[in-house]
Amino acid sequence: MKILLTGGAGYIGSHTAVTLSAEGLEPVVLDNFSNSHPVVMERLAHLCGGPLTLEQGDVLDTPWLTGVLLRHQPVAVVHFAGDKAVGESVAQPLKYFHNNIGGAVSLMRAMVQAVAEGGWPRPPALVFSSSATVYGDPATVPITEDFPRSHTNPYGHTKLVIEDMLSAQHAADPSWRVGVLRYFNPVGAHPSGLIGEDPDGMPNNLMPFVAQVAIGRRPHLSVFGNDYPTPDGTGVRDYIHVMDLASGHVAAVRALLAKPGSFTVNLGTGQGHSVLDMVRAFERASGRPVPYRIAPRRAGDVAQCWADPGRARTLLGWQATRSLDDMCADAWRWQSGNPNGYRSP
Ligand code: NAD
Ligand code: UDP
Repeated sequence: MKILLTGGAGYIGSHTAVTLSAEGLEPVVLDNFSNSHPVVMERLAHLCGGPLTLEQGDVLDTPWLTGVLLRHQPVAVVHFAGDKAVGESVAQPLKYFHNNIGGAVSLMRAMVQAVAEGGWPRPPALVFSSSATVYGDPATVPITEDFPRSHTNPYGHTKLVIEDMLSAQHAADPSWRVGVLRYFNPVGAHPSGLIGEDPDGMPNNLMPFVAQVAIGRRPHLSVFGNDYPTPDGTGVRDYIHVMDLASGHVAAVRALLAKPGSFTVNLGTGQGHSVLDMVRAFERASGRPVPYRIAPRRAGDVAQCWADPGRARTLLGWQATRSLDDMCADAWRWQSGNPNGYRSP
């Protein structure tokens, strides 16, 4: 049973590939390496007990993608491929509308085409990487899936539009099975320390930044605001171990294959942790100090955001099991073993 992973060489895709493989499914990795490194394929071969099939190319290339579907006959597609830097999306919105929305349109058209050509068995099953960013600034926490959606930047806008496109396609052709997964804050790494998050340049996200401070690549962390209405004044998020997130994808694929229909679920732990909680947990895991300075709030940040993960538990039989200490320990193993990510010697 092949599962096609667009963006499968990236952070979440690579961890999902390992988890699918451990569960007896066969991941096929499709990537153009625009935000990942080919070395990941060697690491995946090591973790999966043999090389994975790689289709190197661009999701924007619909005829090629149709050929990939016809050649591999995947039972489901997980669509990770896309650009994800919020700040860059504000500076270069067209890049995001083109690659994210254009990529999703291209993939869906390729799926329609592959079915129409009669070579790909129905029903099309598609899992999509959405984000808690679609909730904008939530009025209350925890957040359930029926909260109103909004966007505050072009990246978030693309997620919202793609969700709407998927629901329109499902309405037009109810044989489609669509699983929309709204991730909260994925962090951590595979416990082997062989694969992990490898941001290019200055990390935007908290955990990779903290890891780089602990290893000595950066002098200190800037804590963006300590005057939020939260217990210690710093921002609170629902950090989820990337291996828990990966098993959420396996559960979503299995649910789509088991019965017709579509769903949208939050993938989070249901627990919030502050920036300072994260700093302390990382110091414990690494045994290194993480110096920090209080800086002004970052534009667009919300005070607190965490999931109600109840629907994922009910619909998918999935829940996160790993703690903040596990997330930090695994992130530190990856960071200390690969101080410069996949470019490390
Ligand atoms: P990532 O950048 O590590 O992985 C994305 C992969 O897609 C990369 O390997 C990149 O080379 C590839 N890619 C991009 N455009 C492509 C194209 N046109 N054709 C083929 N390959 C292409 O990102 P990630 O953290 O693994 O995120 C995966 C998905 O999850 C993204 O859609 C992202 O928006 C979403 N998401 C991520 C987070 C997070 O915090 N990491 C949170 C919520 C949602
Ligand atoms: N944060 C911070 N310093 C950093 C990066 C992030 O204080 O260098 C804070 C940020 O303000 C937020 C939390 O850490 O409260 C998580 O930020 P991240 O960018 O990882 O996730 P998101 O804001 O997208 O949920």
